[in-house]
Amino acid sequence: MVLRHLIHRGIRDPRVLDAMRKVPRERFVPPSERDRAYADQALPVDCAQTISQPYIVALMTEALGLQGEERVLEVGTGTGYQTAVLAELAREVVTIERHAELSEKAVRVLDELGYGNIEARVGDGTLGCPDRAPFDGIIVTAAASHCPPALFEQVREGGVVVIPIGGRGVQMLEAICKVDAAPRSESLSGCRFVPLIGAQGWPR
Ligand code: SAM
Repeated sequence: MVLRHLIHRGIRDPRVLDAMRKVPRERFVPPSERDRAYADQALPVDCAQTISQPYIVALMTEALGLQGEERVLEVGTGTGYQTAVLAELAREVVTIERHAELSEKAVRVLDELGYGNIEARVGDGTLGCPDRAPFDGIIVTAAASHCPPALFEQVREGGVVVIPIGGRGVQMLEAICKVDAAPRSESLSGCRFVPLIGAQGWPR
């Protein structure tokens, strides 16, 4: 998976590649999908949600430029797979999911794998986690029509919000850096994510 789907498609950060080698994706996919755990595909999970495609997980993670000392916010815990990749690379990960059922399942797997630097919350991630801000980086794993203002506010100066922006069907993955308190965006790739639903996202 790492060679065919990540290195050949341009993922270069050796720390990201190591993390992608280390995290066992088969532990996060439903049993019925296990034979496709290392295919470069998003796969269906509970609550009509998806586990993201490995290439997109690596691309989003690389865009954060993590060195190991950061506090990162993830919006959309889902299965916890992306959370585990972040936990390999940052000092601390705060992750928030709107479906309690998904969050509980993810926490069980992350605990079994021994991650001790993750705080999982249930709630509306479009509002971020003001009590833990500022974050060095924020990653949003669901699609919005715009970057929720609360998230841009909670990233530190020089930090990045990585988020799929577009319609409910297709989006562009954007890395939005905070430079002199203003957004500076770089488009990374086309993508398809489930909608970000919440006060500063799509309505239900
Ligand atoms: N990163 C996940 C993984 O590796 O399994 C995949 C996440 S899935 C593509 C998107 C997730 O975002 C879903 O679990 C969905 O319930 C969640 N979500 C959507 N809107 C949200 C919100 N406002 N706050 C928190 N989570 C949200």
